[in-house]
Amino acid sequence: MEDRGKVDISVVVPLFNEEENIPELYKRLTGVLKGLGRKYEIIFVNDGSTDNTQRVLEDVFRGDSRVRVIELRTNFGKAPALSAGFSNVRGDIVLTIDGDLQDCPEDIPKFIEKMDEGFDIVSAWRMDRKEPFLTRRLPSVIANWCIARLSGVDLHDFGNAYKAYRAEVIKGIKIYGEHHRFIPALAKNFGVTIAEIRVRNEPRRHGQSKYGLSRIPKVFFDMITLKFLLTYSTRPLHVLGPIGSFFGIVGIFLGLRLAYLKIAHGDVLGTKVSLSVCVLCIFLAVQLITLGLLAELLVRIYYESQGKEIYTIRRVLEHKT
Ligand code: UDP
Ligand code: MG
Repeated sequence: MEDRGKVDISVVVPLFNEEENIPELYKRLTGVLKGLGRKYEIIFVNDGSTDNTQRVLEDVFRGDSRVRVIELRTNFGKAPALSAGFSNVRGDIVLTIDGDLQDCPEDIPKFIEKMDEGFDIVSAWRMDRKEPFLTRRLPSVIANWCIARLSGVDLHDFGNAYKAYRAEVIKGIKIYGEHHRFIPALAKNFGVTIAEIRVRNEPRRHGQSKYGLSRIPKVFFDMITLKFLLTYSTRPLHVLGPIGSFFGIVGIFLGLRLAYLKIAHGDVLGTKVSLSVCVLCIFLAVQLITLGLLAELLVRIYYESQGKEIYTIRRVLEHKT
C-alpha cells in the first residue's frame, strides 16, 4: 500500500479554525505535490478547532490515502501542533506550511530544489507581504533583525512557518511555547546548512489571524531564552558567575572602604547607605553564583534525562574489524 512506510516528502499543516481554507489548500497542495513525481504525505494537524475543521478534514481524509489527520484535544498553539505533526512524519523531507493559504503551495518545488542541492533547512522569505505595516510588518522586521544578530543565522524571515527540513534535523529539536520561529536558529547549534528562497505572500481570504500585537513582548522574552539556549545552555555559570563576581567585588570594595573610614576617622556619617549597598552587593553575588551552580545541575539533568548529546555527528568513517 502506498501510504505505508517511508515517503519522500511530508507536508505538515497546523490548523486552527480554518474550515473555509482547507478544500482549496488540499486541492492546490495535491496538484503541486503530484507534479513533483515523488512519494508524499500530507499531515493535517487540527489544533483544537472549534469550527468545522475536523469534519472538513475527515472528508478529505476519506478520499485520499496520502492524507493523515491528527486531532489535538484542545487548542495548544502552533508550535505544539507542529510538534505533533513532526512526531508522526515518515518523509525524508518535512515541509511546514500555514493552513490559511497566505503561503502559496505553488512555491513548494523551489523548496525541494534547494533541499536537493543538499541544504538541511530551506526557509521562505515573504516578498511583498500583504499585512498592515505598523502592527505586523514593522515588528517582524525588527524581530527578524534581532534574531539574526542573536543567533548568527542570516535569514530575513524567521516568523514564517513556510520551511523545509531534513527529517533528522527536525527530530533532534524540541520546540516549546512559541519557539517554532526559532527552529533554524536552534538547529544552528547542530551545524546544519540553511538556505533562503523568496516566496509570494497572499492576504488571508477566510478566517482570522490568530495573533495580534500581544505577541511582541512574547517574542522579546523568547529572544532572551534563545540567546541563553544558544550560547550558555551547557555552561550557565559562565553567564551568572561573572555578574555575581562583579557585585561581589563591588561589595567587598565598599566594605573595605567602610572599615577604613571607621578605623581611621571614626566616621559613621553616611555609612548607612553605603552599608546597605555593600550588604546588597554581597548578597546578590552569593545569590547569583549559587543560582549559576543550580543551573549547572539543571543542565546536567536536562541533557542526561533525555539522553541528549551535547554534539551532533554528521558521519563516522571507520574500518570494519
Ligand atoms: N494555528 C494553529 N494553532 C493556533 C494558532 C494558529 O494551528 O493556536 C495555525 C493557523 O490555523 C494557521 C497557522 O497556524 O494555519 C498560522 O496562523 P495565523 O495565520 O493566524 O498567523 P499569522 O499568519 O497571522 O501570523
Ligand atoms: Mg496567516
